Amino acid sequence: MTQKLKITVLGTGTSVGIPALGSLGWGKCDPNNKKNKRQRCAILVQSDDINILIDAGPDIKNQLIEHNIKKLDAVLITHQHADHISGLDELRPFYFYNKVKLKIYTHFETAKFLINRFDYLFNKSSTSQSYFQPPFELINIDYFQDIKIGDINIKSIQQNHGAIDTLGFIFNKLFGYCTDVVDFPPESFNLLYNLDVLIITGLRKNPHIAHAHFDLSFKWIKELSPKSAYLTHLSPESDHDTVLSICPKNVEPAHDGLVINI
Ligand SMILES: [Zn+2]
Ligand SMILES: [Zn+2]
Repeated sequence: MTQKLKITVLGTGTSVGIPALGSLGWGKCDPNNKKNKRQRCAILVQSDDINILIDAGPDIKNQLIEHNIKKLDAVLITHQHADHISGLDELRPFYFYNKVKLKIYTHFETAKFLINRFDYLFNKSSTSQSYFQPPFELINIDYFQDIKIGDINIKSIQQNHGAIDTLGFIFNKLFGYCTDVVDFPPESFNLLYNLDVLIITGLRKNPHIAHAHFDLSFKWIKELSPKSAYLTHLSPESDHDTVLSICPKNVEPAHDGLVINI
């Protein structure tokens, strides 16, 4: 029997979140609708025994505290943009309790970037304090790799995100998580058909060079026919209820705190 999965959507905002700082603020979003408060994109995928975090942006500490997450078995990083990695340092305390290094899985191109930016999290240097131990272990993965973490099976896919490529992930052949994507190579797209649940970028109404806009996301969803689909990485232009009103049946904008059981 396939292991049951619980997906908790921790964040659904674009890189600046909603509200954004400065005069952008809530943009076109209704501040009175709680679903419009969007932290940076991340999700948690859980089986009975295993907790896997996908991405660790600048909101990650508050996101994990809010959901009372006491342990992580692995972190998957989709790509190197700041809204997906700049909270990595916040995950250090997961190492403190049992001194087991937290495993960070990402594509080797992104891994190079992480080493550059967060070398101390993975390697001890001559300037490290004597008591300091690097809390994380970096695990390089490739596109279209099968990964098993405890009782959860994951397939990585390649996605185009403008100037760079990103990783998408399919869990137990049932759930696809595809953020920060504007195009798919056919080999990736073919793996996304007929899933139970698909969470996919839907930035805003107008096209964008690096993120799918609503009509493109809807076209993909129609073709792929998941049982249900949710949009994520929404911009301050994308008010929850307004987006919901244009969504096809079985599609809706995700919101922070959404829990999906598969
Ligand atoms: Zn992003
Ligand atoms: Zn990005």
